[in-house]
Amino acid sequence: MEKQICQSCGITLTEENKGLNADKSQNEEYCHYCFNYGEFTEPKMTLDLQIKKLSEMAISNFNLSEDEALTMAKKTLPKLKRWQH
Ligand SMILES: [Zn+2]
Repeated sequence: MEKQICQSCGITLTEENKGLNADKSQNEEYCHYCFNYGEFTEPKMTLDLQIKKLSEMAISNFNLSEDEALTMAKKTLPKLKRWQH
């Protein structure tokens, strides 16, 4: 099974970190850092900012170099639902 990732920030979705819909059911596409109670927590978030955030997370959590982290973030994030226009 393909692992589910948040369609906004790209982190792996687990039963614990899924966001909630307005009716408090679990949202299957976004984590609770990005989306909760039916709304995006940071409606002004942009793709560029999200790329920066994800690469910083990857540098500290996965020991990637800045270049590797940025490449990964730029490859992953533009494909996600929130950033498709
Ligand atoms: Zn997220």
